[in-house]
Amino acid sequence: MSSKRIVSFFAFVFVAAVVLIPIIRKNITPKPAFSEIYSMNTIIDIEVYGKNTESTVKEIIKTINTVNALTDDFSNTSDIYRINKNAGIKPVHVNPITFDMIQKSLYIANKTNGAFDISIYPVSKIWGFKGGNYRIPAETEIKKALKLVSYKDVVLNSSEKTVFLKKKGEAIDLGGIAKGYTLDLIKKILDNNNIPSALINMGGNILTYKLPPNKDFWNIGIKNPRGDGIIGILKISGTKFISTSGDYERFFIKNGVRYCHIMSPFTGKPARKIISVTVLSDKGYIGDALSTAFFVLGKNYALSNAKKFGVSIVGFDSNMEPFFTPNIKNILELEK
Ligand code: ADP
Ligand code: MG
Repeated sequence: MSSKRIVSFFAFVFVAAVVLIPIIRKNITPKPAFSEIYSMNTIIDIEVYGKNTESTVKEIIKTINTVNALTDDFSNTSDIYRINKNAGIKPVHVNPITFDMIQKSLYIANKTNGAFDISIYPVSKIWGFKGGNYRIPAETEIKKALKLVSYKDVVLNSSEKTVFLKKKGEAIDLGGIAKGYTLDLIKKILDNNNIPSALINMGGNILTYKLPPNKDFWNIGIKNPRGDGIIGILKISGTKFISTSGDYERFFIKNGVRYCHIMSPFTGKPARKIISVTVLSDKGYIGDALSTAFFVLGKNYALSNAKKFGVSIVGFDSNMEPFFTPNIKNILELEK
């Protein structure tokens, strides 16, 4: 080989390396479109891989903001605000999304003996979980508020798309289902845009979409309910919804007792059978609503009813002892 040839050969190798390595790298770790927003009372992380990622993220944010505007019970233009204001007065016409979410809430209420009950609002309110002035109400006050809690008083008219609360003072709150429901809407957006991979985290409600780039599973951490960091990992391969309800997100402590934001519709008091439960499901709204219901009903109910709902669970009882359905044993790694 002449020296000229050698030079041009190395020049070729050099150019090929400069051009090809970034292309190969890009295939190995493509950069996702990432966005973090605050909506629906929580921080939301959106991570989308593939093509058209920016426009997909925009569409997702728009959907989140739409659901927030419909369900925010403090905003006087929301469907929920108008339904609550007209309790005992008249039916209120609502957006199909609101209607569907309430219909699905009533379905879960029926299936969980009323443990999941969106009409819990008057009870949440007297404990200060609506507005922020935490307090322990008197037993008489609790009894009075409980009289206003019944999902059977939520009257739906499918053809008119109206919602009516039978009694004055009754009120509903979609905080236990809205995030999971929104993840279902987001999954549809990802499907429609042919997205190859995405991860959405809405404050404890997670959607793993297909597989992460060049990996066999997503590592989803389970928060330590009584400390910093995580207490376990779920290895999720494919599209799943992972929803956690715990007593460590919003709570107050009085005389050494912890009072959290998930209420038992049976006692009118914060639920305290367990301290956290994570539900793996194929529908976002089911996982979200069931994690709340299982939190109220406790370990035994959760373990013996998970199969009926087609979900898997892992949770921690009040002694921090883990419990889980046998079908997730091989994807669950608990810290020793
Ligand atoms: P988070 O919203 O913190 O993710 P959950 O999904 O468990 O937790 O929902 C808790 C929210 O649901 C509460 O903040 C309240 O708005 C509402 N809620 C509380 N208790 C119940 C209940 N028994 N049934 C339905 N919704 C409830
Ligand atoms: Mg929930």
